[in-house]
Amino acid sequence: MGILDFIFPKYCVNCKKLGDYICSNCFSRLSFDTEDICPECSKPAISGITHPKCRKKYSLEGTFTALVFNPTLKKIIYQFKYSPHLSDLRGVLIDLAYESLIQNQEFQRVLRSEMKKLIFIPIPLHPSKFRKRGYNQSEILAKELGKKFDIRTFNVLKRIKYTKSQVGLIKEKRRENIRNAFAFDNKFKKHIARKSIFLIDDVLTTGSTTSEAGKVLKKAGAGKVWAVTLAKEK
Ligand SMILES: [Zn+2]
Ligand SMILES: [Zn+2]
Repeated sequence: MGILDFIFPKYCVNCKKLGDYICSNCFSRLSFDTEDICPECSKPAISGITHPKCRKKYSLEGTFTALVFNPTLKKIIYQFKYSPHLSDLRGVLIDLAYESLIQNQEFQRVLRSEMKKLIFIPIPLHPSKFRKRGYNQSEILAKELGKKFDIRTFNVLKRIKYTKSQVGLIKEKRRENIRNAFAFDNKFKKHIARKSIFLIDDVLTTGSTTSEAGKVLKKAGAGKVWAVTLAKEK
């Protein structure tokens, strides 16, 4: 036990047991066995690949979620969202997400086929939310995962519409709520032209946020776009 552990003892974020940010018992409840959805219709889809019948000109190619959303993970993500500088906890979460993604066959396939063209783009927060919080958790996630995959992160999207919380809204309302929420500054065009993009967000709900952001990027000249998130919220 280091001196810092003595001064700032660690408690499990889930069950409050002393010792670690995630105790071994709670850790064992986390799972990579995610049920992936089509980003367009939000229904289950094999490997998260957009259903052929749902594909439109600007739709995402698919979604990747790293971990199964359960009460334990919910608490860990909440901590990451609101205290991302708890670096031990952040490290555990990023390691888990990385481990899950590299074990995902479809993700592996995309990594191999798009290798030289891949970049990470985080979903931005509205400036007023950013000012209040001081950081964007999706940007932290993108940069940390980017280091592991050796993929660069470009912060090129802006949130221009203050959206009410998506919680409790049905799918159609979410799409409406998020419409025209993002803007792309054309000065960044060269960074995304014909690139393959992993759009990074902390949690996926119906996929409407990442779909809307993907549409903006594709209209601006991006190649293929996938959503990559920690988990899919139920
Ligand atoms: Zn625990
Ligand atoms: Zn679909």
